[in-house]
Parts: sequence; C-alpha cells; structure tokens
Amino acid sequence: MKRILRRQKSAYALSLIFCLLWLATLFMTLWKTWPEVSSAENPFSTYLALLWEENFGFIPGLEFKLVYLTIVGDAMLISGVVIWLLSRQWFYLPGKTVLLECPFCKKRWRSNPDKGLVHCPHCRQLVHPRMVHK
Ligand SMILES: [Zn+2]
Repeated sequence: MKRILRRQKSAYALSLIFCLLWLATLFMTLWKTWPEVSSAENPFSTYLALLWEENFGFIPGLEFKLVYLTIVGDAMLISGVVIWLLSRQWFYLPGKTVLLECPFCKKRWRSNPDKGLVHCPHCRQLVHPRMVHK
C-alpha cells in the first residue's frame, strides 16, 4: 500500500487567510492596549482586563469591546486550523503487485496486475491469470 498526501490548495490558502486575520486582530488589540500594557506591572493581566474595558470602532457610531475582536480572531484561528487539517487528505493506493493464479496449473505468483496476457512462471503457458483476492 502506498500513501499519498494531497493538499487542496484553495483550502490551504483559506486557512492561511484565517490565520492572518487572527494575527491582524491580535495586533489590533495589542496596538489599542499597548500604552497601558507597556507601562503596567503585570502586562498580561492588564491586557486581559483592557480587553473588557476598551472599545473599538471600525465604523463611526458602531463600537464594540476589544474582547469581541479577540473572540472573533480566535474563532478565525480555530477555523483556519480546522480547514488546514481537513485540506490534508491521505490517499491509499493499492499496491503495485497482486497475487495471480494460473488457470492451468493453479499455481500462484505475485506480479503487476496491469498486464493482461502473461507467461505463467510455473508452467510457461501464455495465460490470462486470475487475480486472487484474500
Ligand atoms: Zn501455470
């Protein structure tokens, strides 16, 4: 059995876009909170606290808390990872050799199944070997 990994390029690109959007939201929240975070004693907890306090407005009149931006960003990251995992598909190809049986002498040997008419290695007859399935 041969394993082949096939990646779907469009899904790959989509997952990359989601991860970049997550990075963008991360940078946006950091950029918004940086003045306070950089001067805080405990930057991480200050950052988390500010996520719930600071408002962020893309469109004038429509504001939402930074934490929502973080949630949306994290959701995008998860979607990106899921899409990336789904875009990787393993394909199993049947092995190159199969077990063939001579219709005359009933002896078996392993060979490439592509050839239709072959010489039996046991009785030397030109035969159409039968494929043996286990
Ligand atoms: Zn034979």
